[in-house]
Amino acid sequence: MGVPKRKVSKARYRTRRMANRLHAPQTGRCANCGEACPPHRVCPHCGWYKGRQILTVEIKK
Ligand SMILES: [Zn+2]
Repeated sequence: MGVPKRKVSKARYRTRRMANRLHAPQTGRCANCGEACPPHRVCPHCGWYKGRQILTVEIKK
């Protein structure tokens, strides 16, 4: 059976732990309306993606 040759240091152990943590979702900017929206997705504010209208977003009051 494989046995670790050295003790894993606190820093190394914690660095590995941090790689598995949860990350906050990334946000980008819409090129059309400038609102914050997730990247590589249709803008939820104006319905634009890659320079053209995809969805018709109804205006909420
Ligand atoms: Zn937009």
